[in-house]
Amino acid sequence: MVFTERSIAWWNNAIIRPGRGAFAALRELFITRNVTRSNGKKTESVLAYRSKQQPTETGLKTVIITGGAGFIGSAVIRHLIERSDYRVVNFDKLTYAGNLESLVSVADSPRYHFERGDICDHMAVKNLFIEFQPQAIMHLAAESHVDRSIDGPADFINTNIVGTSVLLEAARHYWKGLENPDTFRFHHVSTDEVFGSLGDTGLFNEQSAYQPNSPYSASKASSDHLVRAWHETYDLPVVITNCSNNYGPYQFPEKLIPLMILNALEGKPLPVYGKGEQVRDWLYVDDHARALCLVMEQGALGETYNIGGHNELKNIDVVKTLCHLLDAKVAKHPDGITSFEELISFVTDRPGHDQRYAIDASKIKNDLGWQPLETFETGLAKTIDWYLDNKEWCEHVRDGSYQGERLGLVAGA
Ligand code: NAD
Repeated sequence: MVFTERSIAWWNNAIIRPGRGAFAALRELFITRNVTRSNGKKTESVLAYRSKQQPTETGLKTVIITGGAGFIGSAVIRHLIERSDYRVVNFDKLTYAGNLESLVSVADSPRYHFERGDICDHMAVKNLFIEFQPQAIMHLAAESHVDRSIDGPADFINTNIVGTSVLLEAARHYWKGLENPDTFRFHHVSTDEVFGSLGDTGLFNEQSAYQPNSPYSASKASSDHLVRAWHETYDLPVVITNCSNNYGPYQFPEKLIPLMILNALEGKPLPVYGKGEQVRDWLYVDDHARALCLVMEQGALGETYNIGGHNELKNIDVVKTLCHLLDAKVAKHPDGITSFEELISFVTDRPGHDQRYAIDASKIKNDLGWQPLETFETGLAKTIDWYLDNKEWCEHVRDGSYQGERLGLVAGA
């Protein structure tokens, strides 16, 4: 069923009177709430159209993934389709970072459905809940690249903050109308960057203070606060996860590891910011996807869980390890070099670059039994193999506007 703005507005204002026959049948189509009209009469008004695809009829539970065509969202969808019996609805705007080619392995599944849409679009989001009647929503859609947030923060504020508030409101109205509201949950997927930067020691845990330093992390911090507030104020059943840096197959080649792999293979410089001393805690994306599905299903409502890989590494060491692995895997080097390390080039540091992130992931381990399966070495080897075997995917995502150029330097700095 297709909903127009007009038809939704009509149904929302409609009053369903108790009755028999046609009226009774009509009532079955809607989720309603009790209201008292200005003349004092009690009646019901429509909250939402009741989809025919209820889990009781199909036997399937539905989870909506926002940002499912992105790097982590596509890993979550592949995981859910391959290892569960959920029906998965991918809601994605397909920005430069979204690519349906990352989902070809599951696209033919009858349990996978794609809806193109923008999380800032109230009506599209409202229709999404009405149409698909989900048991859960996992919210990953975001503008996610720090350098882009320095060049143009507005998109980050719009998608990450406004978009999250649109989803929260649509989820709240949908959830309030459910016959069994206890079965619903809103899972907000966030980053460890909201906690700011650590010194040489210490770890971020779930009690760490928020101190975001970039427009990206500030927008994600704002969205975390909104999700928390919707739980505290409206009791919306939410869970939040904050994860460290991910790497793995299907990552857009503006992020450190895929950028280095592709530049190295093309014999281009490997740009390392500053002296490459920044420390990040690296997690293989499939380990993150497993953690997310576990928290979505078993996380305690209102709780946050930190997710990390126990792999603290300086950026320069990541790049050197990657070069050594590539040296061993690639028979023919680009002209003029015998080791990929020779391509490393130190460039002006990012403004406001956080020095160190590290995650204490003991809560998710102790409460839910999750821990990463990959070490950095095994995960990185798998990642390099994937990029070597999937040059077509890389060419297609780079066919767009991004050609590997430097982003995120404040003009005039
Ligand atoms: P990504 O940039 O690869 O993918 C983002 C996806 O969101 C894309 O498919 C894009 O098309 C979609 N999108 C963007 N704006 C949208 C909008 N307005 N409406 C609907 N869809 C929209 O990002 P990612 O690396 O997969 O990250 C996913 C989530 O995980 C983000 O919320 C990010 O903050 C968080 N996270 C990422 C990392 C990481 O290392 N990549 C680590 C921790 C947390």
